[in-house]
Amino acid sequence: MKAWVEKERLHGEVVDCLTIILPTRGCAWDSCHMCSYTLDSRRDASQEEVYGSFLKALERGRGEVLKIFTSGSFFDDREVSGETRRRIYEKALEEGFRKLVVESRPEFVREEIVEEIEEAGIEVEVGIGLETSSDEYRSLLINKGFTFQDFVRASEMLRRVARVKAYLLMKPPLLTEREAIEDVLRSIRDVKGHADIVSLNLMTVHRKTLVERLWQRGAYRPPWLWSAVEVLKNADMEIVCDPVAGGKSRGPHNCFKCDERVAEEIRRFSLTQDKGVFETECECRERWELSLEAERLTDIFLFP
Ligand SMILES: [Zn+2]
Repeated sequence: MKAWVEKERLHGEVVDCLTIILPTRGCAWDSCHMCSYTLDSRRDASQEEVYGSFLKALERGRGEVLKIFTSGSFFDDREVSGETRRRIYEKALEEGFRKLVVESRPEFVREEIVEEIEEAGIEVEVGIGLETSSDEYRSLLINKGFTFQDFVRASEMLRRVARVKAYLLMKPPLLTEREAIEDVLRSIRDVKGHADIVSLNLMTVHRKTLVERLWQRGAYRPPWLWSAVEVLKNADMEIVCDPVAGGKSRGPHNCFKCDERVAEEIRRFSLTQDKGVFETECECRERWELSLEAERLTDIFLFP
């Protein structure tokens, strides 16, 4: 179990948020090309252990917002049972949290879940890892195992009682930098009527994944932070981004000199939605622009 307090937006204000990574039996799908979260899951975790970890995590701090990530689906009964979920809603309310943020694959969103959220008595936001609005990319490049229509169906059900956050993945494998930017911008337009907020997730290279194998052979480069900035500046809906592993070779990066500053601006933008925060200039920006053009012609990364 990991837990920490961070900042988060709540109704336009910046508040404290307790984030908990809850160990469960892990994602039922577990087949995406970029994900190895189940390496950290506990295949034999009982519901008592899941709830016990939750209680223990509460000792790490408090805030207005409570985020519970299972690295799978909160609404998958085998990960977190209905009974455990009800105990979590009750405890969260009792501890003074005003909002609960969870994640789920669309197939676990069903009528009982809508009723459950309605009865929970706490504001709920559900993140769904749509990754891209393109069924072709999602299926071939990510192997996600559900369609845009599946997302729309789940989102329509959830939005009767909750907020929906669409996760979009910046730079699935085999796309050039420019294709990745265009894919995200198109996806934002497509999800606009089906989600309340977008979370832009910049690819990081996980251990033991297809993406790692491509990366080790020089056939994959994580996205430039400049690309993320480009997307955030051009998005016309609420959008947040946490550049995990920003500035590391396995994570989204520029030239390794300006990364920390740009990542900080991305985090600040996520809290404020102020496009004026992007001030950093660096000589590597020209190399980024060049690779946007050159990769299109050569399919080769100029600047790893
Ligand atoms: Zn730079």
